[in-house]
Amino acid sequence: MKCPNCSRKDIGKIGVNQYYCWNCFIELSIVNGILSLHQVEEDGSLTSLDDLFEDQDLSYKADVQ
Ligand SMILES: [Zn+2]
Repeated sequence: MKCPNCSRKDIGKIGVNQYYCWNCFIELSIVNGILSLHQVEEDGSLTSLDDLFEDQDLSYKADVQ
């Protein structure tokens, strides 16, 4: 699994269908086969990054599980 933001593979699993990129500090959730990206702010709140990506970038590749 590659991070759609930085294209690196420093992805850690933090929950069911939830991953975290240790390189760019974003949280990745998989909902209905589509990746949803959130940036974790310093105060712990989440900011959606989905608007920054095309749908094709967010299609979950089933072979990475
Ligand atoms: Zn990343």
